[in-house]
Amino acid sequence: MKIAVVGTGYVGLVTGTCFAETGNTVSCIDIDERKVNSLKNGKITIYEPGLEVIFERNLKQGRLSFTTDLKEGIEGAKIIFLALPTPPGEDGSADLKYVLKVADDLGPILKDYTVIVDKSTVPVGTAEKVHNAIAANAKVDFDVVSNPEFLREGVAVDDFMKPDRVVIGTKSEKAKKLMETLYAPLVRQGNPIIFMDEKSAELTKYAANSFLATKITFMNEIANMCELLGADVDAVRKGVGTDTRIGKRFLFAGIGYGGSCFPKDVQALAKSAEDVNYDFTILKSVMAVNENQKTKLIPKIKEYFNGDLSGKTIALWGLSFKPYTDDIREAPALYNIDMLTEAGATVKAYDPEAMDNVKNLIGDKITFCEDAYSCADGADALLIATEWPVFRTPDFEKLSVSLNNKVIFDGRNLYTLDEMKDLGFTYISIGRQIIN
Ligand code: NAD
Repeated sequence: MKIAVVGTGYVGLVTGTCFAETGNTVSCIDIDERKVNSLKNGKITIYEPGLEVIFERNLKQGRLSFTTDLKEGIEGAKIIFLALPTPPGEDGSADLKYVLKVADDLGPILKDYTVIVDKSTVPVGTAEKVHNAIAANAKVDFDVVSNPEFLREGVAVDDFMKPDRVVIGTKSEKAKKLMETLYAPLVRQGNPIIFMDEKSAELTKYAANSFLATKITFMNEIANMCELLGADVDAVRKGVGTDTRIGKRFLFAGIGYGGSCFPKDVQALAKSAEDVNYDFTILKSVMAVNENQKTKLIPKIKEYFNGDLSGKTIALWGLSFKPYTDDIREAPALYNIDMLTEAGATVKAYDPEAMDNVKNLIGDKITFCEDAYSCADGADALLIATEWPVFRTPDFEKLSVSLNNKVIFDGRNLYTLDEMKDLGFTYISIGRQIIN
């Protein structure tokens, strides 16, 4: 099948590449010329494990192409995916200007019956808005389908190729059949394609992300209680996670969630609730708790240095909002950098994949290091913001020599209290006893 994907970012590039891998001919369209040129020349624009190899294969075999020209890109496509940004607007609602602009542009250039798919995360009612925008100028029949994306950055290819489920919102039988054909190779193991109406599909995505953000945040609140009560959040996590009604995942306490999805999606759902005069109390709390959680270790760092961080150097391990991605959108590390530098500290950082993105964002506000140990070298304390595997079993002897003080502030609870005690580190983590 010939398909088109409009927007070639994290979701669009994965969608396009994976559908090319299952034998479709895919044209990816983006307004960012630099991105398109790079992709045309075989240079991948994001770090996502496993993506590069299938990107290169499909580009070479002619199933994957890139263009900045919407009309050229959609030529012959039976299905057009919209994988466009939906950033928060000033009031917290999802800004639909990118999605609706492309919908406006599509109307006059559709030549045959086409299915237009909202893959972006969009508020309830967007499929109807997209439909109306296209219908204003379209001369042919078309359907607008809501097909929210659930991939996780860092494991996006796996998530896309083997989804737990595919959610498709449409009332059109014709669109349903086309979508079923396209997705069939991805659900061979029997994972379901769940069909529903457009509004329910749109809300499903927000409900899923908000639930997960709530689950993390709930555990972070338990961690905060553990610190006050002298309990251990790791033990509590194991105790509750083994209850199959609760499940083991998304229960790790830390310095909060970030990324391009949870913060904006929780905010957008809260705004949607407000718009229909519903007081979604839980979501407001989730946002407030997470806001504090992100920089939870800063007062503890200050306390360690007797309230004065001026002239101190902090080594920061991890910049991306989670491991296995170079995505730094809403990364807790960035909030910590701001607070540390505002308090007069110097920050040296190391991240396996995200340093270029941070460099582009904040320039020389901090120093970027070659590896974890040169980062720690001469620093007065170590702060861990992202649980990259490379940080999990460091050479602690080397680290002890590199750091001026044997002190670790661990925002991701990477080490056991016993090992820190044995190694003689001062170790301050989340929801656990302080090791002195
Ligand atoms: P992104 O910013 O990485 O990519 C969006 C792309 O759209 C950019 O390359 C941009 O240049 C392009 N674009 C903007 N206007 C355009 C236009 N008029 N024509 C063509 N291209 C245009 O965003 P993303 O992370 O891929 O997210 C896209 C959507 O998917 C969002 O709604 C997001 O909430 C949702 N989503 C994201 C993830 C994720 O993990 N990133 C997961 C699930 C859902």
